[in-house]
Amino acid sequence: MTNLPGADLHWPEGCMAGTAMHELSLLENVREILENHAVSQKFSKVSQVTLEIGKLSSVEPDALRFGFDVVMKDSLAENAELIISDIAGLGICQQCGLEVELETSHDPCSYCGSPRVKIVQGADMKIKDLIVI
Ligand SMILES: [Zn+2]
Repeated sequence: MTNLPGADLHWPEGCMAGTAMHELSLLENVREILENHAVSQKFSKVSQVTLEIGKLSSVEPDALRFGFDVVMKDSLAENAELIISDIAGLGICQQCGLEVELETSHDPCSYCGSPRVKIVQGADMKIKDLIVI
């Protein structure tokens, strides 16, 4: 059993509408990354996957859990355990310069009310940890 460093997942801003299809295509990306890792890192089975889900990423953890077994079936991660870790949303206000916690990607600054908040954390999803055999 080996613990591997994770890989960042990025996808275009435009496909962030939160639908079940969205989660399934993300999971397909995860599976592809695992398959590529398996070749370069020489492992044949994944027993546990930890995904970090940003609060602002429009990814539904429940939909992800639901889709995981389906997408990973017949792959090297079939029957792998999925662990989801939530990452809070953070932004820097472009008006007053303070760091604010964000519930959604459209939240205004909670200090000055400016809508110009630059998201610095929580907008994406990444593979944090893999346990492989
Ligand atoms: Zn502000």
